[in-house]
Amino acid sequence: FLEVRSVAKAFGGNQVLRDVSLQIAAGEIVGLLGPNGSGKSTLLNVITGFTPADAGEVEFDGTAIERLDAHRIVRTGMARTFQLPSMPSRMSVMEVAMAASTAHHGVWDTWLFTRGARQAEREARDRAEQLLAELLLTPVRDLPASALSGGQKKLLGIVCALMARPRMLLLDEPTAGVHPNLRRDIVTALQRLNAAGMTLVIVEHDMHFIREVCTRCVVLDRGEIVASCRPDALASNERVLQAYLGAA
Ligand code: ATP
Ligand code: MG
Repeated sequence: FLEVRSVAKAFGGNQVLRDVSLQIAAGEIVGLLGPNGSGKSTLLNVITGFTPADAGEVEFDGTAIERLDAHRIVRTGMARTFQLPSMPSRMSVMEVAMAASTAHHGVWDTWLFTRGARQAEREARDRAEQLLAELLLTPVRDLPASALSGGQKKLLGIVCALMARPRMLLLDEPTAGVHPNLRRDIVTALQRLNAAGMTLVIVEHDMHFIREVCTRCVVLDRGEIVASCRPDALASNERVLQAYLGAA
């Protein structure tokens, strides 16, 4: 479904990803973990086409993504969130969610022809309202998106990604800075999405979350994959322990 082959990336003299190869099958929930600075966000950026790799290939569902622009990548069925989401100051929460549907889908033009702009807008509005409610953002829907708290911006990032109805969703630390009560809602929402067929890749430091949600863990250390195993095998994995102790 997703295939990453021998990807390398350096920023200046800093080799951030070294020969990273990774396969993800449809329906998996993969936790991506590793010490700070080990290259997790960079790997997500390469997979989703935000950062060009120096070497190697990424293929999603048979399409080489490095040849696509961001707009077309989303059309292939991938969506993502950001570790530190930034939000426009002039748009409300609702407007940002609605805009995500047009920007992400890239099928706006087709909609205009086939179903009429009104209906397209109504559908986007209904979906945005439903997702904002699920992530408890309804009370702030008319506030400027930039006025949200850090945790709320994270949740709005998830709403935006889901507006595109992706087949694969990549989340960069979705629960960091989010209240524990809401963390439970995020876990439930992700499990429901997965049950409905969505493949998930989740960058996460929280071991409880990983053990509860993920079907497999991939551990990065200094730009290299040092383990790929079931969550319950993490604690006994020598290279994982080394990665964490070595970074301490
Ligand atoms: P964290 O858990 O703290 O989020 P991470 O595993 O996501 O860490 P990355 O954000 O991928 O780590 O960063 C890995 C390394 O790449 C860091 O040393 C960082 O400084 C460097 N890096 C990332 N993006 C850039 C960039 N655009 N320009 C220069 N260096 C970068
Ligand atoms: Mg990161």
